[in-house]
Amino acid sequence: MKSYETVIGLEVHVQLNTQSKAFCNDPVQFGAEPNTLVSPISLAHPGTLPKINKEQVNKAIQLGLALDASISLRTDFDRKNYFYPDLPKGYQITQDHQPICIGGSLMIRMKDQWKRIRIHHIHMEEDAGKSMHDQEDDYSLVDLNRAGTPLLEIVTEPDLRSADEVDAFMSGIRQLVRYLDISDGNMQEGSLRCDCNVSIRPLGSTELNARCEIKNLNSMRFARQAVAYEVQRQTELVENGLEVEQQTLTFDPVSRKTSPIRSKEDAIDYRYFPDPDLPPLKISPVQIEKIQKSQVTLPWEYHQTFQDWGLSFDDATILSEEMEIAAHFSKLAEGYNHPVLMANCYIQKIRPWLAEQNIELKNFPISKPHFWEFLDLIQDNKISNTSGFEKLLPALLNNPNKKPGELAKEMDLFQKGDADFLENLIREILNENPDKVKAYKNGKKGLKGFFMGELMKKSKGKANPQTSANLLEKMLDA
Ligand code: ADP
Ligand code: MG
Repeated sequence: MKSYETVIGLEVHVQLNTQSKAFCNDPVQFGAEPNTLVSPISLAHPGTLPKINKEQVNKAIQLGLALDASISLRTDFDRKNYFYPDLPKGYQITQDHQPICIGGSLMIRMKDQWKRIRIHHIHMEEDAGKSMHDQEDDYSLVDLNRAGTPLLEIVTEPDLRSADEVDAFMSGIRQLVRYLDISDGNMQEGSLRCDCNVSIRPLGSTELNARCEIKNLNSMRFARQAVAYEVQRQTELVENGLEVEQQTLTFDPVSRKTSPIRSKEDAIDYRYFPDPDLPPLKISPVQIEKIQKSQVTLPWEYHQTFQDWGLSFDDATILSEEMEIAAHFSKLAEGYNHPVLMANCYIQKIRPWLAEQNIELKNFPISKPHFWEFLDLIQDNKISNTSGFEKLLPALLNNPNKKPGELAKEMDLFQKGDADFLENLIREILNENPDKVKAYKNGKKGLKGFFMGELMKKSKGKANPQTSANLLEKMLDA
């Protein structure tokens, strides 16, 4: 059997978290009583006029800038005409030939590497209502609350090569829209969905073969299963000398199979034309610049900063996952000499503690100077890592106003490195274990670990490990 490569391009729909709908002031809200958020404008009743929502435009520009796209200074809206019960207007307002953002790319994270996925364009459009076919036996239900909700559609180049990359792309977009606060990125509630265009080709080929488009995948699990099934189906066709037909497919989560909705021959003619009710939209460079200036630090920018500070790729990933955490950590660590130690402490102790106590980041009790002083005690070997993380830190979280040094003293946590103290303890241990000393002298060098353990026990964890090890060796070899 030949080896094949999977080729995937995505059309990702992002539901925006604007106050109101794309072309009228019906509120945007998930989970409201069905059909309560629907005005005559959402229904395009005669005599009603749509109006462009500035918030949607600004959020589109925000996303475009973050993805390094170029922003169209003049953009317009088209009607995409088709009939469906959840589309009360009989057409969807979208952007067909002059989308708001062109080009750009998203770097996706694959294990410990980045891969660039090029974006073809991003356009603005509106969502349809929701049809429910599974509630009643004899008829379907329609909820029009969602009709007119502002969407951005991100169309990628066919740069993805696996379900893992689809997952990484969707995760990257979800993270980004949350950073930008333009959408909650919630796939379960349908705020983020994608159509997957899938084709295969012999490994090494650069041709683009006939593709199938799997519509409306609203969970990462389904997207993975759909891609896996589709790759297998297409591979079997090709292996049997048959051709893949360009089709639009739907995925059934129960059977985990895709099945055709329509093929290329019966493709719908949407009769696109410019919406006569919406004038072309001009965007000024000043408006773009203003948005650029107020842009937040982006996830990959934090990631790079953290790596520049010496953190591992994975730790940088963990700490840049959510914007609030990234901002909090970077504020604490900025200017500090030992960011790696701080990252360890933050990831292992601070984050779990905050989550457990359900404490908001802005209420983190330890001040920056105290946090630095605490970490310095560990860094300078004045207290051990273990007593720092396990004893001093919890005490400090309860008494954040106390100076860490004083607290450590009160708790008697300072490591003892002075020779007299250690020598006395080691002598005691050697006297208590004559057999083991003999064995050691006869070559069982591994027993050194045993003596160190005893020393730690006797000193209650306060023996400075480095000094102790040296001294112990000296006394054993004497
Ligand atoms: P259309 O105009 O028919 O919608 P596009 O060229 O705009 O088609 O592509 C739609 C999506 O399909 C894009 O995400 C693109 O990357 C993807 N795509 C195009 N050709 C292929 C292919 N051969 N294999 C996989 N995906 C593809
Ligand atoms: Mg398309």
